[in-house]
Amino acid sequence: MTGKVALVGAGPGDPDLITVKGLRLLQNADVVLYDRLIPMSLLEQVRPTAELIHVGKTPYQRGISQAEINALMIEKAQQGHLVVRLKGGDPFVFGRGAEEALACHQAGIAFEVVPGVSSAIAAPAYAGIPVTHRHISTAFTVFTGHEDPTKADGQTDYAALSRVGTLVLLMGVAHLAGITERLITAGLDPDTPAACIEWASTDHQRVVIGTAGTIAQRVLDAGIDAPATTVIGAVVSLAAQGVAWFDPLTSDHDDP
Ligand code: SAH
Repeated sequence: MTGKVALVGAGPGDPDLITVKGLRLLQNADVVLYDRLIPMSLLEQVRPTAELIHVGKTPYQRGISQAEINALMIEKAQQGHLVVRLKGGDPFVFGRGAEEALACHQAGIAFEVVPGVSSAIAAPAYAGIPVTHRHISTAFTVFTGHEDPTKADGQTDYAALSRVGTLVLLMGVAHLAGITERLITAGLDPDTPAACIEWASTDHQRVVIGTAGTIAQRVLDAGIDAPATTVIGAVVSLAAQGVAWFDPLTSDHDDP
């Protein structure tokens, strides 16, 4: 009998932030293909007989390719296994979940998608920053900083981004200076509050606060590195007004 694939979001870092549905699937999995940025203690939840396969890709290093991951996932399901493909945050937010879903569809493998708590929303929340606020921001936009901002024919429309409410930047540490510069040139007020959150929801969490004009230098000075999420928008000021609530030193787990 053919098995099945579940594309499961593991949440942003705290292992308790996986969904109940995701956890149940993990506990029943025969095979778990997991990424680099998942809370590793979640793997303690699997059955002793489950096969655990790390398919995480390290930035700038040649690891397992997406085609190889797809092939492995399909092969294990064709052998009759329940395959959990465990991904950081939400599988459909910069997680290549759709590519894996399509690969299953094309191979005739049944699949389901279990959304996860995305760092796009959870990282700001753990720094006391709501991505919307009734009186301050009626929209938020999540975008990737993967693209080199000095590229002339890039896909990122900085002019559009500079006008669309709260900005949430994922994969944006390496290019942060160039990205904020492009946004400011396109019309974003350099005094717009900004924050960068590293290892959100874990006991390694660090938060750096500044403005659109200063955040890149502050991040550099603090030695903030991936994984980190940057928020730019007036909502950032709510953290200092009393919404900040999370203290990594008193968090009750030590992932990742
Ligand atoms: N699917 C994931 C995002 C994958 S892209 C999700 O929904 O969260 C990887 C990027 O996510 C990182 O470069 C970083 O910008 C962000 N990220 C992941 N984990 C994070 C964490 N614990 N703290 C802050 N940002 C995080």
